Amino acid sequence: MDGTWTLADNDRDAEARFSGLVQLASDAIISIDASQTITFFNRGAELIFGWMAEEVVGNSLEMLLPPSARAMHGEHVRRFGESPVRARRMGERQAITGLRRDGEEFPAEASIVKVEVPGGYAYTVVLRDVSEQHRAREQQRFLLEVGQLLASSLDMETTLSSVAEAAVGFLADYCVVDLVDDDGEVRRIRVAAHRTADEEAALLLREVEVERGRPHLISRVLEEGLPELVSRVEPELLEELSQNEAHREVLERIGVASYMAVPLRSRERVLGALLLLGGQGRRPFDEQDLRLAEEVGLRAGMAVENAKLYRDAQRAIQERDDILGVVSHDLGNPLQAIFIGIEALDRRLPEGSDGTAYYLSAIRSSAGMMQRLIRELLEVRRMEEGQLPLTRRDCRIPALVQEALEVSGPLARVKSIALSNEVEGVDIPPLDIDGDRVLQVLSNLVGNAVKHTPEGGEVRVTATPGGGEVRVSVSDTGPGISAEDRPHVFERFWRAERTGGTGLGLGLAIARGIVLAHGGRIWVESGEGEGSTFHFTLPQAD
Ligand code: ADP
Repeated sequence: MDGTWTLADNDRDAEARFSGLVQLASDAIISIDASQTITFFNRGAELIFGWMAEEVVGNSLEMLLPPSARAMHGEHVRRFGESPVRARRMGERQAITGLRRDGEEFPAEASIVKVEVPGGYAYTVVLRDVSEQHRAREQQRFLLEVGQLLASSLDMETTLSSVAEAAVGFLADYCVVDLVDDDGEVRRIRVAAHRTADEEAALLLREVEVERGRPHLISRVLEEGLPELVSRVEPELLEELSQNEAHREVLERIGVASYMAVPLRSRERVLGALLLLGGQGRRPFDEQDLRLAEEVGLRAGMAVENAKLYRDAQRAIQERDDILGVVSHDLGNPLQAIFIGIEALDRRLPEGSDGTAYYLSAIRSSAGMMQRLIRELLEVRRMEEGQLPLTRRDCRIPALVQEALEVSGPLARVKSIALSNEVEGVDIPPLDIDGDRVLQVLSNLVGNAVKHTPEGGEVRVTATPGGGEVRVSVSDTGPGISAEDRPHVFERFWRAERTGGTGLGLGLAIARGIVLAHGGRIWVESGEGEGSTFHFTLPQAD
């Protein structure tokens, strides 16, 4: 070529380049004539459909469409021929489906262009196989569903069962979930079968006992934590991996054509295995399926680990509570003996033995504190067991407030804290409440307020009736409670690090239990350095 092209050369060259491009394109480019007979079939089309050009040219386009789409497709092309539009994206409103030589249907995107020829129109279709994108999207959706299922419950078996159900809906004909017990035994949790699969075979598979010593479908997974994919299962392999005669029979009955096994793992531990079986009618599992199954195994493994941790934590809490219950109960008697001893010694104390009297008073106050802690422990336990009976009667709130303030009076005087009862004179409707319990709430709130308020401060109790209830509020001029701490103050055993002190962090939890048992609410308003106001409501009597 000397660089000086004639127009004709240029045209010819462009045409050659263009037809080369058309041939090479990875999309399928197919031309049909007015009667929808295939006239051109590029290399891309050969790869996508599995037919060679010479096998399809001269035949109807219908051979590339699934039977269900043929009539509709012909109609679309005819209408497009009649419309004034020259080019159109096909399947804009609904996905179009192609048919490969091996009978597999696949999702596709396509555009169509028409060219006028003597006697009508010829059409060229450019079609792209989008099965990979389609599959990736479906897999993402499936993983999302699995994630939601796994997060929906902390009960291991329920969760794993629902994952197995989801897996047979999307990935396999049968899904077997095995867990390794703490003592190393393999326990079959679930065998799920696709709705078109053999339910009875699934039941039989459920009964098979897996012996860890013998080779089986999940041995490598359990022993080495490695996934396994067998895309084509030969009969000899089934024979080899069957646990016993019954097992082999059921595998044969299922007609296992391919299988995958993946570990249910959490960090370095293999907690079980997920076995997915594909029958004869299903596309054999491939690497991509295996990666998906591994992902499911990983997520399920983490969920199993969480469920185990949760179960262990629940057990530990239960054990702690049982011990606390027994110990607190049993401490009551020796403590009572200490009180009796203190009283006896006190009565026999000669005049002027100030030193001994001082120690006796210190013992009495420590024993008193122990008694309060034990009472709180027993109380919170009863409350959690739902045994907080209320003896309701009509009680006067101002009198209860006065009593609560008197209990904290001595400490308030020592700290020069002003206590004010602003409830007296407020028109409070009759309340059907357990006076002793409400007094306990008030004493706790006033006690906390006096305890946390520095010298010279103030503690006020007010009551506001309205809306079928009365709101009682205890405010102090103490250090306040930070926004970070506020959500926790009513939790049992919670104390702010800053305040620490002698309490167990149960007072407010008990107060909350009592208020809730009355059908009321309790909350706190506070800011750091701004004092605190604890409010609770009590519903008006019917
Ligand atoms: P305890 O008093 O035994 O520690 P509570 O359940 O009564 O337990 O209180 C829990 C925590 O809430 C206290 O340890 C303290 O940190 C905080 N708190 C309670 N009342 C006040 C208050 N009026 N001002 C500041 N902090 C308070």
